[in-house]
Amino acid sequence: MSLPTHFTLSNGQKIPSVGLGTWQSPPGQVRDAVCSALQAGYRHIDCAWAYQNQGEVGEGIKLSGVPRAEIFITSKLFELHHNQVRLSVEDTLKDLGLDYLDLFLMHWPLALVPDIPADGSLARKGKLDAAGKQIVDRETSDDPLPAWREMEKLVDEGLVKSIGVSNFNIRRTRELLKHARIKPVADQVELSFGNPQPELLAWLKKNDILPQAYSPLGSTGASHASLEAIDTLAKKHGVQGANILISWQVGRGANPLPKSVTPARIANNLKLVALSKAEIDELEAAASKAEHKRVCDQSDDFDARWDIFEESHPTNCDKVQATKD
Ligand code: NDP
Repeated sequence: MSLPTHFTLSNGQKIPSVGLGTWQSPPGQVRDAVCSALQAGYRHIDCAWAYQNQGEVGEGIKLSGVPRAEIFITSKLFELHHNQVRLSVEDTLKDLGLDYLDLFLMHWPLALVPDIPADGSLARKGKLDAAGKQIVDRETSDDPLPAWREMEKLVDEGLVKSIGVSNFNIRRTRELLKHARIKPVADQVELSFGNPQPELLAWLKKNDILPQAYSPLGSTGASHASLEAIDTLAKKHGVQGANILISWQVGRGANPLPKSVTPARIANNLKLVALSKAEIDELEAAASKAEHKRVCDQSDDFDARWDIFEESHPTNCDKVQATKD
C-alpha cells in the first residue's frame, strides 16, 4: 500500500510523515545536514534546545533557500525551563532565526532544578547535588500542568502553532488530557524495532495524538538491518534496512524522525517503501519477538531519581508502564 506523505494532527495541521532528527548531529556538520535534507526534499526538521545545535540548524534552513512556510519545524522545552517557558521558546526562536515554531513539545515530563542567573535570564545549567548529578524538581515533575498552561499561551500568541509532549507514558498523557485547554497533538517517544511499544502506539492513535517515533533506526551504534525480517524485506524491495524500518513506522501510523549527517543516507531515508499490510504485520510480529531494549537512557546523568525517570519514560520493557496503565 502506498504510505502517506503527511499525517494530519488533531487541530488540522499537516505534518510530513518523515522528519530529519538532529540529536547528536555534531557542530560543523548539522548545518550542512539540514541544508542537504531540505534540498533533498525533507520538509520536517526535529530540533530541541537540549541538542545545543539550533543555531546551526537555523543556518542550514537559511542556506537551503527553502521558504519557511514550506517547512515543519519542531522544538522542545528543555527540562531546566519548566518555569521559564516563554524565555526558553524565545531563545530557541532566536537561535533558529525564526518567528514561530510549527510544534513545541514538552521534552520530558521530568523537570530539573535550574540555576537561574541573578538577572532572571534563561537558566543554562541546573543545580547539582554533592555527587555532581542534576537535581530533579520532583514537584514540577509530578505536575506538568503549570508549564503546559504557559505552552498553551504560546499557541494563543502565535509563537507556536501546535503543542505536544514527549516521553509521556499513557498514564501521564491521560492525566494531562483531563486538564489541558489545548490538547497535545503529538507524543514523541522511542519507537523502534527494539522498542516497538504497540500498546502506547495504539492508545495514542485512539486518542488522536500523533505518535512520533524517535530513534527509529535504533540510534547511534545500532545495527540497522541485522534482523532477518528486515533483511528479507530490504532484499525483496531492493532498498536498505533503514528504508524498511522508516516505512514500517509510517505504515503503523507513527511519524519517524531518522537522524543522519551523511548526505547519501539523508537522501535515502526519505524514500518510503510501499509495504503491504501483511508485511507491516509481519514486521510488527518480528519486533514483538526481538530483544527489547531502550536506547535513550540518561539515567546516570541525574540524581537519585531512577524512579521518576523510569516512570516518565515509556517502554515495553518497563514494568512500571505495564502496572500503572
Ligand atoms: P536514529 O535511530 O535516527 O539513528 C541515527 C543513527 O543512524 C546515526 O548514527 C546515523 O549515522 C545512522 N544512520 C542514519 N541513516 C542510516 C542509514 N540509511 N544506514 C545506516 N545508518 C544510518 O537515532 P536518534 O536517536 O538520533 O533518533 C532520531 C531523532 O529523534 C533524533 O535525532 C532526535 O531528533 C529525536 N530524538 C528525540 C528524543 C526525545 O527525547 N524526544 C530522544 C532521542 C531522539 P550518521 O548520522 O553518521 O549518518
